[in-house]
Amino acid sequence: MGICGGNKINHKNRFTYDGGYDGTTMTTSIVLFGPPGAGKGTQASKISEMTGKPQISTGDMLRIAVSEASDLGAKAQSYMESGILVPDELIIELISNRLKQEDAINGVLFDGFPRTLNQAIALSSIVDISSVISIEVPDEEIIKRIVGRRMDPITKEIYHISFKPAPDEIQGRLIQRKDDNVETVMNRLKTYHQQTSPLSSWYDDQNLLIPIDGNKSIEEVATDISKFLSN
Ligand code: ADP
Ligand code: ADP
Repeated sequence: MGICGGNKINHKNRFTYDGGYDGTTMTTSIVLFGPPGAGKGTQASKISEMTGKPQISTGDMLRIAVSEASDLGAKAQSYMESGILVPDELIIELISNRLKQEDAINGVLFDGFPRTLNQAIALSSIVDISSVISIEVPDEEIIKRIVGRRMDPITKEIYHISFKPAPDEIQGRLIQRKDDNVETVMNRLKTYHQQTSPLSSWYDDQNLLIPIDGNKSIEEVATDISKFLSN
């Protein structure tokens, strides 16, 4: 398997071998994994701050491509609106190009990628993964989180109508994603269970999976992740 280079010591060994997990290892990347609406984007900026690794969100990159009406955007839009995955070859090309940018040299934080076994295999041949932080949240909670999600188009901050209300003065400018409706969420969850969740055992077999209980408050989840990163 192509998990390459200095990643041969697995997590279980790392904890005892050198007395702590080196969460900021310069050349390795981290994967933030979990169902749609699990809280990956919410936690990503804190993880980026702690590790210095830039966040790469395929969802955000695809939404920019759609808004710019680029070739990629035109190809991706109908998949995104129906809640099914954009074809692997488009995603792998998008990621390969992004990783050529200078800020990716010391490893990155992947958010929402990989989502299929083909994507994971392609990724393992181009970067070292140090850990896969898997935010676990039950489906009933996911639906509540997604239909209540709102975004500030100026700061890009993610809010929730009940769980993380935005300040009054910016309420008027908040936007709701087109795919954040009950019908599309059901498709996204089905897609997740069929095509993406099998990756967790694939990564677990490589001792890379770090399960995090995501069914807690935003602050508690952040604390659990930071304990792992600084342990
Ligand atoms: P993802 O990037 O995994 O799709 P987001 O980070 O966008 O998920 O979170 C989805 C929604 O759930 C947002 O409205 C966010 O404010 C809210 N949220 C995130 N984490 C939690 C949490 N631990 N408890 C309650 N709501 C949360
Ligand atoms: P969420 O985390 O709420 O599911 P994302 O912003 O990650 O939303 O993704 C939105 C949509 O973009 C997905 O439903 C899918 O159509 C597409 N997408 C994002 N990342 C990938 C990926 N790695 N592979 C295939 N499709 C993707």
